[in-house]
Amino acid sequence: MDKTEEDMRANCGVLRRYRDLLPITSATPMISLGEGSTPLVHSRYIGKTIGCEELYFKLEGCNPSGSFKDRGMVVAVAKAMEARSTTIVCASTGNTSASAAAYGAYCGLRTVVLVPKGAVASGKLAQAIAYGAQILVVKGNFDQALELVRELSNSHPITLVNSVNPHRLQGQKTAAFEVVDVLGDAPDYLFIPVGNAGNITAYWMGFSQYFAMERIARRPRMMGFQAEGAAPIVLGHPVEHPTTIASAIRIGNPASWRQAVAARDESGGRIDAVSDEEILAAYKLMASREGIFCEPASAASVAGLMKSARDGLDLTGKRAVCVITGTGLKEPELAAQQAAAPPLEIEATLAMVEQALDLVAMG
Ligand SMILES: *Cc1c(COP(=O)(O)O)cnc(C)c1O
Repeated sequence: MDKTEEDMRANCGVLRRYRDLLPITSATPMISLGEGSTPLVHSRYIGKTIGCEELYFKLEGCNPSGSFKDRGMVVAVAKAMEARSTTIVCASTGNTSASAAAYGAYCGLRTVVLVPKGAVASGKLAQAIAYGAQILVVKGNFDQALELVRELSNSHPITLVNSVNPHRLQGQKTAAFEVVDVLGDAPDYLFIPVGNAGNITAYWMGFSQYFAMERIARRPRMMGFQAEGAAPIVLGHPVEHPTTIASAIRIGNPASWRQAVAARDESGGRIDAVSDEEILAAYKLMASREGIFCEPASAASVAGLMKSARDGLDLTGKRAVCVITGTGLKEPELAAQQAAAPPLEIEATLAMVEQALDLVAMG
């Protein structure tokens, strides 16, 4: 493929851009809401504070529904259509339902989402409502909702689009391809939040596929981070009542547990936990020092990076990528709650503006 053709394909969605590397047939509809091809942004602050000059953020909040879930959803929905399915279902901490609802609306499918009661960020629920999904609020947690949709899809002609659907991870692996396509090689480290553990599994699949194709000479160390109150992989056993401010990773029994552990071990990486305080500190730092407003769950990767550096991980001369999984606009209340003081209200005069800014009036 020549360069211009590649350029033209770069923003045409995940299915077209990586069609040769995905489970696509001539019968797969090549749908796209413009997912993928997200920015890889060089850090100007956090990298310096930890001695890592080559730190990058992969901004997955720039996907159409505001999280990386769109990469997998477009493949899962295309394959559902190829199989002539007309209904899709998922359990969700929020972003999967937002993504499923978006692609379901785009493709004219019936979309059913099960969300744990009181545990979904307002923006994510607003999306599912706006896209017209049928929303069932389950009196239980995410793990229970996932069990329900698994059973439902086993006994009805309904396609499950959670990450236990293998097409989801196939689509999500394209983020690893993009990192390599931009950097020219794999980074030394990949820092990533871990909830249901599908994404860390998908990145590892992507890097491993490029490695097998000899597109990269080595694979990165996979550094996954759970929240302390929802850290089953770190603890080595399921957590019955997971708690954390980061709702997108509030999961007590990850579906891709085994694969995540394999990715960690094969890569020589780690899966560790960070506290809600560390997550919130990273969330604020990302917005105020890097100009990147992300979800608290996304900040877990940054919190994990900073914790690793504090614990002695030497990143001098290393290349690291932090996956910023979703946008902070999903949960605007949280940013407001974190503000030191509410914004100042003033009369509409220049004098009041100057006074508020401690500026001395000129002439
Ligand atoms: C889904 C999600 C995660 C967790 O990803 P898993 O694949 O479940 O490990 C992290 N951050 C955000 C914003 C998410 O939507």
